[in-house]
Amino acid sequence: MDTSFVKTAEVQHLLDRAAGVDVAGGNQRLKAITRDLIESLMVLIVKHDISEDEFWQATNYLIKGADELGLIMPGIGLEHFLDLYMDAKDAEAGLTGGTPRTIEGPLYVAGAPLVEGEANLTSDPDEDAPTLYMHGTVTGPDGEPVKDAILHVWHADSKGWYSHFDPTREQTPFNNRRRIKLGADGRYSFHSKMPSGYSCPPEGATDVLMKALGRHGNRPAHVHFFIEAPGYRTLTTQINFGDDPFAKDDFAFGTREGLLPVPTRQGDRADIAFDFQLQRAAGKSDEGFSARVRTEAAAA
Ligand code: FE
Repeated sequence: MDTSFVKTAEVQHLLDRAAGVDVAGGNQRLKAITRDLIESLMVLIVKHDISEDEFWQATNYLIKGADELGLIMPGIGLEHFLDLYMDAKDAEAGLTGGTPRTIEGPLYVAGAPLVEGEANLTSDPDEDAPTLYMHGTVTGPDGEPVKDAILHVWHADSKGWYSHFDPTREQTPFNNRRRIKLGADGRYSFHSKMPSGYSCPPEGATDVLMKALGRHGNRPAHVHFFIEAPGYRTLTTQINFGDDPFAKDDFAFGTREGLLPVPTRQGDRADIAFDFQLQRAAGKSDEGFSARVRTEAAAA
């Protein structure tokens, strides 16, 4: 059958009723989006002749995999698509330049210790891991040092686990997570135990989907950042180690040109020099974080 079936009067009437378009009250924007979303799914069902069995199999997948949706979204490229879309809208508005944004991922935890000066991110021994030394500057569009910046940094341990999300529960709260308050010179430096890349949880919903698509679920080793500063747009980004085997093949599409520094490795240490550049904010509302719901924990 042809997808024009969805355009029949009976189906269109069903869509109006399902999205509440034919009644007063409710949120108009949500009604419009809901109607389009359901219609898109209907077109999909007809286009691929999706059976009742397949429909309920997919529904069950979503029910059981709900707690991994934060990982499925980057895995299917939608989180990266949001970055591409925001970049394109910025370019249209003449807002270009600065360090590229890239996906936040689902593993940030608010409330990390706020520290100053050369920071040690790692609270746990993680003895066999090399030490990563990372340093650089945070400047604005004209190269001016950004004053009063707070650099949020978080990464996995050498086994690829994040504190607060580690199934072994062996990590100290906020291990490899800090907020670093920068001085007037915009310089930052920290050291930590070198993170490893990781894969999505074995047998979890993301893993099941990746296997069914013939894909892998691996990310290269990386370090996540938010940088916030008065007068500047908050930057969400991450650096991925350029010499990681998955540097060019990240299942979450978080790697981007300009965000792939190669660590200088020597013995049990690795160094990365990396400078960040922020865009100036147009106003207060332009400075903040996205309204994404994030895990929060009390400061240790
Ligand atoms: Fe990560």
